Amino acid sequence: MKILVSACLMGQKVRYDGKDRFTEGMEKLSQYHELLPFCPEVSGGLPVPREPAELNGKARDILNGEGSILTSSGNDVTAEFLEGAGKALALCLEKGAEAAILKDGSPSCGSTYVYDGNHCGVKIPGMGVTAELLTANGIRVFSEKNFHELIPEECDYVRGE
Ligand code: SF4
Repeated sequence: MKILVSACLMGQKVRYDGKDRFTEGMEKLSQYHELLPFCPEVSGGLPVPREPAELNGKARDILNGEGSILTSSGNDVTAEFLEGAGKALALCLEKGAEAAILKDGSPSCGSTYVYDGNHCGVKIPGMGVTAELLTANGIRVFSEKNFHELIPEECDYVRGE
């Protein structure tokens, strides 16, 4: 299976702070699947490093033109984030990717939580715009916490069997 993966989880230094979030298990995963590293924010035209940004509104609404994504100093980066989300979906469709493994908590890649928009470190349940768009188009989204389900030899362990 082809799987789009947050580039930072594969060790690429593309995060807002210029760092990566290398995650153990990617190499093993690559023995079973074709991994497609991708960073929606960089692909949307944002630099590394860049100001951290948070959602103002639910991802689904922002994708529909309601709400915005602002940096900590108030710059509106909604257009860049939506561009990146669209490119992520286009890549999945072009390559036939059926799943994505995305870094949780990110305003692009978050799948179970994001930050509340006040830039105070408060987490709330929700998705980033890329995770929301991929999910809405039938692509299964995993995070760095549960992607082991996609590694056959680790399935039994994950299920506690
Ligand atoms: Fe990682 Fe996604 Fe943030 Fe890019 S946008 S640095 S892939 S979490």
